[in-house]
Amino acid sequence: MNKRSQRLLALDKKHLWHPFTPMREWAAHDQLIIERGGGSYLYDTDGNKYLDGVSSLWVTLHGHRQKEIDQAIRAQLDKVAHSTLLGLANVPALELAAELIKLAPPGLSRVFYSDDGSTAVEIALKIAFQYWQQTKLPTSNLKLQNKSKITNFKSKTKFVTFVNAYHGDTIGSVSVGGIDLFHKIYRPLLFKSLKVKMGDAAALENVLKKRHREIAAVIMEPLVQAAAGMLMAPRGFLKKARQLCTRYDVLLICDEVATGFGRTGRMFACEHEGITPDLICVAKGLTGGYLPVAATLATEKIYRAFLGRPEENRTFFHGHTFTGNPLGCAAALASLKLFKKERRLDNVRKNIKLLEKELPKFRALEQVLEIRRCGAMVGIELRPDGKPGLGHRVILEARRRGAILRPLGEVIVLMPPLSITQAELKKLLNITYQSIETTTALIR
Ligand SMILES: *Cc1c(COP(=O)(O)O)cnc(C)c1O
Repeated sequence: MNKRSQRLLALDKKHLWHPFTPMREWAAHDQLIIERGGGSYLYDTDGNKYLDGVSSLWVTLHGHRQKEIDQAIRAQLDKVAHSTLLGLANVPALELAAELIKLAPPGLSRVFYSDDGSTAVEIALKIAFQYWQQTKLPTSNLKLQNKSKITNFKSKTKFVTFVNAYHGDTIGSVSVGGIDLFHKIYRPLLFKSLKVKMGDAAALENVLKKRHREIAAVIMEPLVQAAAGMLMAPRGFLKKARQLCTRYDVLLICDEVATGFGRTGRMFACEHEGITPDLICVAKGLTGGYLPVAATLATEKIYRAFLGRPEENRTFFHGHTFTGNPLGCAAALASLKLFKKERRLDNVRKNIKLLEKELPKFRALEQVLEIRRCGAMVGIELRPDGKPGLGHRVILEARRRGAILRPLGEVIVLMPPLSITQAELKKLLNITYQSIETTTALIR
């Protein structure tokens, strides 16, 4: 490690507090400091080169230092870096909203911006809650409402969520989360939600049937619970959830923060089952992984419940300072253009084919318990070996071999940039294979 790296590492140990990181362990070891990137690679301050196997935490789509996105941000810098959406509009935010609506599942028509996945989820929850507070007459399902003699919907205040759900780290998002390791300690701070097992259609129907008068919305990660360790929902469950929500007059929120923008092989995971949620949350890949911009998309029906004379207070009183940031929106517009120009989804499909062919080989490794995949999102679950941190030991080995990975417990995640070449993806798979093999061979 060179002198400069040592100096920087000292600053890290002195001042930085890293997310999701046991800091005592962290401080006891030397850490990588990333200096620059290019394509599918990251480079540390000693000039070492690593394949970015998790898209810098699931965000990078077209690679690092992508020419068109770099240029779009520079061009926007020559105009204005930031202007607020409170009381004003700006050019990239408007153009991006129109593009998002074009790409999103049909029926979504309004874009509410924020900064991160967590904020996009908070916004969806608050909109869903407020929607029912301001909706007086029975809406879509007259028969159901009349039978239960509902005249207003003010009692619809609860959310149905799934075991192992992850929707972000702010208090509202944690309230609808279901990963005990992350969420349990905050329980006294949280609002209660109704938990159902992912994929259990009968349980979902049961809770909706019995308690729809209390339920504002169901929130789910479509097809795959990513942060839980790439857990797959059974095929058809998303569609079933949509049908049940419609039948029982409950809103459906789809959190596509991880699955959105091509990760599953389609632009959005919802497309695989041909459904439109009432609200959809997008973030991670929205700017191609460049800047923090997120959005919550809503249907016109929901939007209209917020219209009225100012003194009626139907307004959605919510907004983050950097909402609709022009630099971020310009990056997002450039990223969306690249999907067309580079036929990005074609490349994803090619990569999916390669994964289909290569991943079964991992079964030869004794320590591999299960391989799960949705499109180009991969989780390789390892059999615990009795010593703590097997996943972590494997990714450290991968680092020595030239790839950056980040595990979820004992699940090794692969989610490389959509633009990764076949050769690079093969290399990533080889490094992963060898890293699991060597790490587990050492302890036998
Ligand atoms: C990452 C993630 C979030 C949280 O996004 P942040 O940008 O980290 O706040 C929410 N939902 C899902 C499904 C995610 O994967």
